[in-house]
Amino acid sequence: MRIAVYPGSFDPVTMGHIDIIRRAAAVADELHVCILKNPQKHYWFSQEERLALLRESTAPFQHVVIDAYAGLLTDYAHEIGASVIIKGLRNTTDFMYESQMDYFNKRLAPDIETVYLVSDNRYAVLSSSAIRELMTFGGNLEGLVPEPVLKAVRRRQERQKHNG
Ligand code: ADP
Repeated sequence: MRIAVYPGSFDPVTMGHIDIIRRAAAVADELHVCILKNPQKHYWFSQEERLALLRESTAPFQHVVIDAYAGLLTDYAHEIGASVIIKGLRNTTDFMYESQMDYFNKRLAPDIETVYLVSDNRYAVLSSSAIRELMTFGGNLEGLVPEPVLKAVRRRQERQKHNG
């Protein structure tokens, strides 16, 4: 039984994340998509909203578990018996950052291997921060985020209009 974990903030989940989840779920027996809490970070969507949006958006996939954890990724991986960490790579900036993370994760957990999935060309420039920026100015998000996120964004924009 090969359990893999795909960590991130998912604030919000994008089609780039969904593509990585679909591909990782196809090669793992069980894939845990885990929202890691960073107390230093301010999130746009609450943890409950991000969990719900991930659950709805990944409903079509088999063997995918959605979870959240306040602690080290390697501790979470050990707790659930994962032997693989999944990361998505969009560009050389991701590569440089992930190489550093890889060094520390290997020190903490030499038994866990990180597997990198290269981003599909369609999503290589897509990030949650770009989505948040588009959201702020009411830009069209169709095709960039899954349907449940589109709906959540529309609800939020409606609320904002009513509240001035
Ligand atoms: P972001 O970097 O977009 O703010 P996260 O922190 O939630 O999102 O990223 C979680 C993981 O997903 C990281 O491994 C990141 O490199 C990967 N990822 C994010 N966006 C994409 C994308 N468009 N294509 C492939 N991988 C991605």
